[in-house]
Amino acid sequence: MKSFDETLAMLLAAARGRGHRPIISLDLADSLGRIVAQPVASAIDVPAYDNSQMDGYAGRVAEMNLSSDPLPVSQRIPAGHPGGPLAPGTVARIFTGAPIPQGANAVIMQEESVVSEDGRVRFTAPVAPGQNIRPRAGDIKQGQIVIQAGRRLSAADLGLCASIGVGKLEVIEPLTVGVFSSGDEIRQPGETLAPGQIYDSNRPMILGLAKGLGCRVIDLGCLPDHAEVTREKLSQAAASCDLIITCGGVSVGEEDHIKAAVSELGTLDLWKIAIKPGKPFAFGHIDQAVFMGLPGNPVAAWVTFVMLVRPYILAACGVTDTDPQGVHLPADFDWPKPDVRQEYLRGWVNARGCLEIHARQNSSVLSSVTECEGLIEIPAGVPQKRGALLRFIPYSALT
Ligand code: AMP
Ligand code: MG
Repeated sequence: MKSFDETLAMLLAAARGRGHRPIISLDLADSLGRIVAQPVASAIDVPAYDNSQMDGYAGRVAEMNLSSDPLPVSQRIPAGHPGGPLAPGTVARIFTGAPIPQGANAVIMQEESVVSEDGRVRFTAPVAPGQNIRPRAGDIKQGQIVIQAGRRLSAADLGLCASIGVGKLEVIEPLTVGVFSSGDEIRQPGETLAPGQIYDSNRPMILGLAKGLGCRVIDLGCLPDHAEVTREKLSQAAASCDLIITCGGVSVGEEDHIKAAVSELGTLDLWKIAIKPGKPFAFGHIDQAVFMGLPGNPVAAWVTFVMLVRPYILAACGVTDTDPQGVHLPADFDWPKPDVRQEYLRGWVNARGCLEIHARQNSSVLSSVTECEGLIEIPAGVPQKRGALLRFIPYSALT
């Protein structure tokens, strides 16, 4: 059996060994979740001018602090309408986001001011230089790189790009990922189940995971447990996919035809990986397409996707740090009989900030994924006692 780390290293090397993917130019609105191909630098300072953080009065600190007499208001500066230089001995009525007039060095908020009947204003609190002024370039300096190549774009990243006036981005062309389920017992939702049949959980799940990573996905249907049909369908899929994923049919039963088909059409490495759930994992090539065979049990398919396929897909698209962010938290359970494989238990963080696990950890129990919040890593062969610090990987870091 290969260790998880060894398997992951081989997959990442395979992904990076395929060289750079094509770059495409996309509108900002279409770029969510895409991976940036070129660093994004700002052509402007943000903000581009000193501006007010408050609705209030802009003036000179010395005049506003010293004067016991109210000061006249010499101009009104709403956002989007720059005023003129500030006349000595006066203040400007100013609104949030409006440019600070030349000569003013602080803004005092309107809650700390009293306007007299003649329209002059006095202040009820002292003011310090720079107070309530958002300085030019306080967020971003002209020339600064705001987004590094290889970053997956979040909604806030799109906002940041917009804030520097960038409306188009160079991103990596996503992988085209085709997904097959397999098995004569598999039926589709909407169909009626005959005895011995089950619904296809894996295909919508794996398609959803791939889509969530920004891949272009192709639903390739379900492979019957039939050698020739399997060969034909895999061969066809290779023409249109960068990555073909199958679920099931890669263990040792004689109804498992996928391994043989991939070996005949291309190359196949079948790895027994030391993770639980998820032992059988196949990797290979059919023509230009990469092939990955996931286990059939739904939880095993889910875990192998998020722990192995996900980093492969990200690395193939130029992401350098593909490790999911985990945190170490104390276990609120005992795990006295660890497996010889590294285990990924489904669990959550409880109100005491400790890790709890789902009662049913069988790899066929898909509700153990949906009813939990993350994966808890148990190192191979190491018994765990309540209080032990274990790595928790929240789903948000995996999907
Ligand atoms: P296999 O590796 O094909 O023997 O599948 C292992 C187990 O996973 C069997 O119990 C299958 O019925 C089940 N399984 C395989 N594919 C799916 C699927 N697409 N949806 C739900 N269960 C599946
Ligand atoms: Mg099967």
